Parts: sequence; C-alpha cells; structure tokens
Amino acid sequence: MIIDCHTHLNQYAYLKDIPSLEERVEKLLLTMASHNVDYSIVLSSYLVDEQRPSTAHLIEATKRHENLGIVAGFSIEHHTDDDLRNYRSWIKDGSVKGLKIYAGYEPHYPYETGYQKAYDLCVEFGVPVMIHTGDTFTEKGKLKYSHPLNIDELAVDNPELKIVMCHLGNPWIEDCQEVVYKNENVWADMSGFSVGKFDHFFERIMVEKVAELINYVGEPRYLLYGTDWPISDMDSYLSFVAKLKLKREFRDRLMYKNAKELFKI
Ligand SMILES: [Zn+2]
Repeated sequence: MIIDCHTHLNQYAYLKDIPSLEERVEKLLLTMASHNVDYSIVLSSYLVDEQRPSTAHLIEATKRHENLGIVAGFSIEHHTDDDLRNYRSWIKDGSVKGLKIYAGYEPHYPYETGYQKAYDLCVEFGVPVMIHTGDTFTEKGKLKYSHPLNIDELAVDNPELKIVMCHLGNPWIEDCQEVVYKNENVWADMSGFSVGKFDHFFERIMVEKVAELINYVGEPRYLLYGTDWPISDMDSYLSFVAKLKLKREFRDRLMYKNAKELFKI
C-alpha cells in the first residue's frame, strides 16, 4: 500500500495549464492509479485565488473519491474565526484530516500566538498540523520563518500537538533530524525535493542525506512518504525510495503505516 501525504490541486503557471479543478482531480487520480498509490492527501493553500481553490471547493471536488483526503491551509493573516469554525466542523465530520501552516511563505514564525487557535483545534481532535519547512518555492519567501529549528520551540510548548515538518526542512536536513529525534510529537514528510524529475547527481546527494537522517533518528515511527505532486514527479519519487534500500518494516512504515495512523485514514 502507498499513501502520498503531500499533494496539491492548485494551478501552477509553469506546468501544463489545466484550468478546471475537476480536471486536475482526474489527473491526480490517473497519476495515482498508474503508480499504485492508494490514497493521497491534498493540501489547500493559505491563499484563495484563481490558481488556489478554497478548502470548501476542494472538499466538494473530491468528496466522491474515497482515496482522497484534505488538509486545510491556515493563514495567520487571512483566516478569520469563521474560517476556523468551518474547519472545526469539517475536522469533526472527517472531511478535513489536518491543518497546514505555510511558514516562510507567510512572514511568521510557527510558534507565534496568532497560530495557537489552529493548534488548539488540532489538539482537540487529535489531528496533525503540517508545517512548511526549508526552502521556499518563491524568492519572496523568508527563510528564517521556515527554518526547521523553529519547530522545536512549538513542539516543546505544545507536547500534545502532532506536527509534521514538510520537506524534511530541506536543505537543513540535519536540523530537521535533531528536532524529529528529540520530540516525540514531531513527524516529517519527504516531499518536494525536486521540481519535476530528480537530477541524477542531486538524487544521489539526497539519498545520502535521507539515509543519514534515518540512521540518526533510529526508530521508524516518524517518516512519511509524500511527493508534492504535481510539483515533484511521482515516478521519480518511487525510484528515489527504492534507492534508500529500506528494510521491509521501515519501508511499510514510511509508505503508509505512519500516515494511516497519524491522519486516521
Ligand atoms: Zn507542497
């Protein structure tokens, strides 16, 4: 079984233009089927505009498909208490499986008090918050907010909050591995290492870095398979995982067991 815990249905200008959300859903389902991916989590953005569908729109467009789940983007600047009330009812009825914070894209540290309401909601229902860490896709992002070490502060002050560090904090993977090792309430997803396919040389470096992280952290409870599709290519990601040469038990935890437990799939 394979669960991809990190995909998007936004419209990306540099990718082939697919204007309708419904067609993008179909494309995701077809891509999953051709890569034997059984379930995907789709992340909504912190912004809503023509390229970025709202969480409500995503729920509507995916509700017929039992193999898709939604994690709702939360913005410290744009979301109101009304939005959080909607998130609460969607988390309650299972249409939303967690929240996502876009640290770095938004110039706010993940431990700022403006996010606390969102975190309290996650704790109340036992769902995770995913947090962007590491490089930002745009030059306008601010890296001090997305550095993985910020997650330590949040994790220590909110021991009941389940936190997923997205992208292993790349390129600060060493910092990510320490935060995950030290804090039992922190997971990490390996999504978004490449735009499109992996370049051969870069893939070799990343295999070494991820192997080092696995070796350092030891137990397999924390690592989650995710691609960042359509930004990263599903095919490349599967061959990347194959190159890690994981033992069966660790591979199963990475590819689906950890995500199944964490997101209650
Ligand atoms: Zn992403």
